[in-house]
Amino acid sequence: MNKREIPCCLCGSTKHTVVLPDTLGDRPPAVGYDFSTETRKTYQVVKCASCGFLYTNPMPSVAECYEEHRDETYIRSCPQRRRTADHAVSILRRYQPSGRLLDIGCATGIFLDSAARFYQVEGLELSRWAYEEAAKRHKVHNVPLDRLKVDKPFDIATLFGVIEHFEDPYSAMQCVARLLRPGGLLVVYTGDVDSWLPRWLGKKWWWFQGMHLCYFSRRTCELLLSKCGFDTVHVGTLCVYFQLYSLGVSLKRYRLGALMSPLLNLPGLRRIMVPVKLSGEMLLLARRRP
Ligand SMILES: [Zn+2]
Repeated sequence: MNKREIPCCLCGSTKHTVVLPDTLGDRPPAVGYDFSTETRKTYQVVKCASCGFLYTNPMPSVAECYEEHRDETYIRSCPQRRRTADHAVSILRRYQPSGRLLDIGCATGIFLDSAARFYQVEGLELSRWAYEEAAKRHKVHNVPLDRLKVDKPFDIATLFGVIEHFEDPYSAMQCVARLLRPGGLLVVYTGDVDSWLPRWLGKKWWWFQGMHLCYFSRRTCELLLSKCGFDTVHVGTLCVYFQLYSLGVSLKRYRLGALMSPLLNLPGLRRIMVPVKLSGEMLLLARRRP
């Protein structure tokens, strides 16, 4: 694993304090959704002494880890992801009811399926198997963000659970700004490290994973977007739907959750879908400045 010492991408400071130790070493991160003990291991995470941004440092190069990964846990959770995607689209439509939409990190295209009812959609995905699944139904690009060329800018760009994977979120969001028309809508869904639940859970917070390289708060996310030419128009939490068995999979990493997990997997219960609105996650909408 190739790692390099980097300055804070928000303010350029090289001063920081260590928040999490490196428990992965030279191994690649676990990139699946099965939440094993390995998923919770991270590289060293630091907090910028100047602006408070949390990021992985030294920063590893992990892009290749996604290319050949096929995630069966993700495939099984399609019904709940469709329901969440429908809900997210209903929020977007209040700000931009139609137009051209690009979903960055579109995985197997579940959000594209929901969005295609109202928008002309395209996706971008690095994982080969996910790209091949999504490309059966939609126009999808299998190239890194900085190499995507488009004839006409988009009206909306969405990043659901993607921004925390970027090695250099400042450069990545500058690329996104170039892909959007002035006044275009940006949608970011990620963790919120400053809310009460992460503060309470500490290093047990579920967003702390080896594949997540950046941990935003509302303040640091808005700071990044502002530097990249966006003005925030909405910040809130997104209601995420879970089937009870899947909630059990997510909770099994906590002691109480591990006890509840077999109960949530009972035949009469496991497919029941419940909405969950969690502290520690945020949905942020912003417009590209004219
Ligand atoms: Zn900083």
